[in-house]
Amino acid sequence: MVVSVPKETAPNEQRVGLVPELVPKLTKAGLDVIVQSGAGLSAGFLDAAYVEKGARLEAEVFDKADIILKVQPPTIEEIARMKEGSILIGFLQPYTNTTGIKALAARKVTAFSMELMPRITRAQPMDALSAMSTIAGYKAVLIAAGRLPKFFPLLMTAAGTITPARVFVIGAGVAGLQAIGTAKRLGAVVEAYDTRPAVKEQVESLGARFAELGLETKDAEDRGGYAKTQSEEFYRKQQEMMAKYVTNADVVIPTALVPAQRAPVLITEEMVRGMRPGSVIVDLAAEQGGNCALTEPGQEIVRHGVVIIGPLNLPSTVSFHASEMYARTVTNFLSHLLKEGRLHLDLEDELTRGPLVTYQGEVLHQAVKTRL
Ligand code: NAD
Repeated sequence: MVVSVPKETAPNEQRVGLVPELVPKLTKAGLDVIVQSGAGLSAGFLDAAYVEKGARLEAEVFDKADIILKVQPPTIEEIARMKEGSILIGFLQPYTNTTGIKALAARKVTAFSMELMPRITRAQPMDALSAMSTIAGYKAVLIAAGRLPKFFPLLMTAAGTITPARVFVIGAGVAGLQAIGTAKRLGAVVEAYDTRPAVKEQVESLGARFAELGLETKDAEDRGGYAKTQSEEFYRKQQEMMAKYVTNADVVIPTALVPAQRAPVLITEEMVRGMRPGSVIVDLAAEQGGNCALTEPGQEIVRHGVVIIGPLNLPSTVSFHASEMYARTVTNFLSHLLKEGRLHLDLEDELTRGPLVTYQGEVLHQAVKTRL
């Protein structure tokens, strides 16, 4: 069976679906690996490195593949070049990429969406979303530190004492916890809030203070550890109680998400108006509409003297490690699908069935089907 690794074509996508170090893992499992020339270049992986590890280079890889490892969803034109019955593994944006999902079903591609990996212990080595959130959380702090007209750490110099920057992180999931850790390492004073009460201990273990908003969040978490939607009334109260934390901060990093929903608006224009000029908001929820009412996804704007950045696809900006981490999750998943070098799809297995979107011409994933 041939595994193909195309060059990503989406704008600003620098990652690649497989790194040279992982080629032997696939060839040892009896697979032929074909990499499109230049596929790893923007992530720092040369063609020669893939060849050295046992891959072949080709100019066109879609039509030869039994299995395709991608980062971004394929275009309609790429889907048309795939073989019927081939396997696709990648971030497929299953809830928004309606045309793509329909085209994959029509082409009879067996498509697995890494976003839909179940959050069970067995699936942890395949958890691509967590791997990418780690990168986003880290990079958000570096962007904020680069934009803030202040130091992060406390400094005692002959020219006077510099007080440390204050960072407020909203949502302490995977990205938020990494943002807290990174901001602490840079010397900031960090506070954080999450609707899931279980997170308090994790925040404190990183040396940050948990913001006690005095809000009742029963039923805050689903079985997978994700946050559940709260009522409008809850969000209104949260804005009110959080205002003083936001206005005291030099940097606010909101990361609050609820799966398959628009991100809740937690920072109002009024709150931004109350912030000190020069303060920075890096809105990690920008891809799902933003946690700040003023965020413009993909843009950096200044409102009321506050810099508001809504970055898109931050993991791609750390393309080397993002590719390495992503490729590990993808190859771990592919290994799960293989038995003695052959594909073995056990549709009764939660780990196989969870991320499976299209199969034998049908959209099999119930939630995705409902969205379509
Ligand atoms: P996410 O990206 O969907 O959300 C980010 C954070 O925002 C979450 O912590 C969520 O509680 C928080 N949030 C939502 N609404 C909020 C609000 N109104 N105010 C403040 N915070 C709000 O989630 P994630 O970071 O990918 O994962 C969340 C958690 O899931 C992790 O911390 C972990 O406990 C769990 N998890 C489990 C596994 C597993 O394999 N078992 C894997 C990854 C994550």
